[in-house]
Amino acid sequence: MERKIRILIVEDEAAIRTGLTDVLLYHGYEVDEAADGPAGLEKALTGTFDLILLDIMLPGLDGYEICNRIRSQDREQPIIMLTAKTSDDDIIQGLSLGADDYIGKPFSVAQLVLRIQAVLRRARIGVDIRNHIRLGDDIEVDTRNLCGRRGGERLSFTRREVEVLQYLRANSERPVSRDELLSKVWGYARNLGIETRTVDIHVAKLRRKLESDPAAPRHLVTVRGAGYRLLTD
Ligand code: CA
Repeated sequence: MERKIRILIVEDEAAIRTGLTDVLLYHGYEVDEAADGPAGLEKALTGTFDLILLDIMLPGLDGYEICNRIRSQDREQPIIMLTAKTSDDDIIQGLSLGADDYIGKPFSVAQLVLRIQAVLRRARIGVDIRNHIRLGDDIEVDTRNLCGRRGGERLSFTRREVEVLQYLRANSERPVSRDELLSKVWGYARNLGIETRTVDIHVAKLRRKLESDPAAPRHLVTVRGAGYRLLTD
């Protein structure tokens, strides 16, 4: 079974906090709460949450500062600011500190739940794009953990192999030359003529892992005279 999505509520007004908790539990989320700024920051930085609902006017430490501190440690943490402060300036300040969304009080529960779902959906897509490369129906590469699978077969990769794949995927609309790979992935300022073999060796290793027939690749293809191209379909 998939684990439950965890949401942290940082809100000092007990009635709102309790109401939010009830709503989120009802929708199947797991909930943790903090009733003031310092406790909220502590939980946000030490716990693992899929989303943080963050009030702005809080005792001890305001929501802007908490958002700022969370962002300095974790750029990707989804945060929705929740507040009675709904002037343009407040909203702009919240969003520019990196909140993913901003909901004014009083809010409708239906709207809140939809916004939460939208932020979670975007976050999940972001994680998938950053951490996974999919090729065809049966190949998946987890670029963060340097592993993957082809059909039922488990694969492991070196950091450099994954970097080659990531660069090719980021430029998958065109072939990428060996010189460009050497420059962008290996960081060589200039191809001295001997290193292109390094690229070929990495490509050959990747093909042995990713292709069902490495001699006739379907995904990591050679474009004659131009370089390599990653076909993700
Ligand atoms: Ca408050």
